Amino acid sequence: MSKSGKLLYNWPDNNFDESLKFHDASQLGDIPYDVAIIGAGIVGSALAYQLSQYKVKVLLVEKNYDVGEGTTKGSSAIIHTGFDAAIDTLESELVTKASLEWPELAAKLKIPLRKCGAIVIAIDEEQEIQLDKVYEKGIKNGVTDIQKLSGKEVKEIEPNVSEKVRGGVLVPRESLADPFSASTAFSEIALQNGTDIILGVEVTAIENKSEKIKTLVTACGKKIKTKRIVNVAGLGSEHLARIYGGEEFDTNPRRGQFLIFDKYSGSEINRIFLPIPTAKTKGVLVAPTIFGNLLAGPTAEDYPHSYENISETTTEQLQLLKEGASKLYPKLQEQPVINIFAGVRSNCKQGSYWIRCNDNSPGIITVAGVRSTGFTSSPALARYLIGKLQDELGLNLEEDPDAIDSRPENKWPGWWKPGYNIKELVDENPDNGKIVCFCEQITKADVIRQLDSPLKPRTLDAIKRRTRAGMGRCQGFDCMVPIAKIISDHCKIPLAEISKRGPGTEISSTSTSNN
Ligand SMILES: Cc1cc2nc3c(=O)[nH]c(=O)nc-3n(C[C@H](O)[C@H](O)[C@H](O)COP(=O)(O)OP(=O)(O)OC[C@H]3O[C@@H](n4cnc5c(N)ncnc54)[C@H](O)[C@@H]3O)c2cc1C
Repeated sequence: MSKSGKLLYNWPDNNFDESLKFHDASQLGDIPYDVAIIGAGIVGSALAYQLSQYKVKVLLVEKNYDVGEGTTKGSSAIIHTGFDAAIDTLESELVTKASLEWPELAAKLKIPLRKCGAIVIAIDEEQEIQLDKVYEKGIKNGVTDIQKLSGKEVKEIEPNVSEKVRGGVLVPRESLADPFSASTAFSEIALQNGTDIILGVEVTAIENKSEKIKTLVTACGKKIKTKRIVNVAGLGSEHLARIYGGEEFDTNPRRGQFLIFDKYSGSEINRIFLPIPTAKTKGVLVAPTIFGNLLAGPTAEDYPHSYENISETTTEQLQLLKEGASKLYPKLQEQPVINIFAGVRSNCKQGSYWIRCNDNSPGIITVAGVRSTGFTSSPALARYLIGKLQDELGLNLEEDPDAIDSRPENKWPGWWKPGYNIKELVDENPDNGKIVCFCEQITKADVIRQLDSPLKPRTLDAIKRRTRAGMGRCQGFDCMVPIAKIISDHCKIPLAEISKRGPGTEISSTSTSNN
């Protein structure tokens, strides 16, 4: 039986669950970590998962109050094949490898994955000429199952595509999945295998960076000892690298806005509709989501790090986005939008997947510019980083025979395998029959199961991302307060302290900021 790691939250409030509070670095023990991973996005979580298969002492540290809260939470959620990646790059290699392993991996993690396929669509003569290049690039990238289609053939398999369609390239293995569940599953398994995870803790400096044992200095004042550091802090990686004097590189946030349409819209198209990609972006796509909705986006807007409103959406860009997406799928104009959001990529001017080992300090790896494909590449990127840790940072790895690499059958999410209409389940636990989110059909038992899961979520957003409660048409109007009450009752946290995404975002008007 494997030994669970420690899960600690830096939660300043006294009312928070005492057993989960990060009071003191001594709670993590005296022995320095072999590896500290800074940033629990999909990349940090995947790295923790894979390292947890070995007998090593690993820490995953995240400044937010849940995993997957950075770039990871705002993506198109596509497992790419890599057909359109820049040829002979690390990105292309990792995406191509990872896309082949995702179906088996998703089954182990118990995260839904749907191989729906994609079509790159040409709607004018100029674009039609580009299709040959798209096809050839795909073949060069090793995606040999792609096919060229005439306009008529596209129309036959996708009747709702634009009447102007002149041809397409079919990419059968492009798939839909959910990066929230993936980050959670990776981190949860890592935790169960002994990885320590601390949330709400920002690394602000590194002391003794040239020594064998370094010290992570955190915003909450606690200091943590580690032999090696992997900086996978996404948009925060450049700032951190400047602090420890890593090689210079420049990143900037690249915002991508999205429109989410109501569930019945999702059945109008069978595959992901892709425009002809440009050098800067894959362009505005229209896709069903794994949850059954329809999604259109993203935009690609570059801003400096100093821009404060980076996560906001703008009417002007959303309008342009809708016009662009409607060129591929004209009926989009009639579909009801139920949500809008913006994700933010980390764009690196020196190129994507900018990785430096022993980055001006022995024992530190910097990873930057995992811009548009990090969800897909994460398992292969994690393995690549483990290779670097072994070959260039002197990490000895011995497999841990007790480590688990899968989650049990009962981990399939309630939105994927609902239990509220199965009599035996309701008889066994009446909460299985109590729906709290009617839009997404999520039960009280689904919420409680998550609160009691290894990676104990304690915010409304964390529950929303795990269960989908609050992601439906009413966007939480009906269920937010009942769910806050369930968290409050079950975890013995006063209702006024229940927050959207951690301290300072409480939902009660008596104690909130306006975040
Ligand atoms: C609009 C958009 C669409 C996309 N579509 C797709 C897609 O369809 N398919 C695909 O494969 N990829 C897609 N991507 C790309 C993918 O989402 C990213 O490549 C991936 O999420 C990057 O993960 P990460 O772990 O590197 O970064 P992040 O998710 O940003 O994780 C980094 C973490 O580090 C934390 N952190 C930062 N600084 C510190 C610090 N000092 N101390 C502690 N913690 C810190 C942050 O809070 C964050 O949680 C898309 C991205 C966007 C924005």
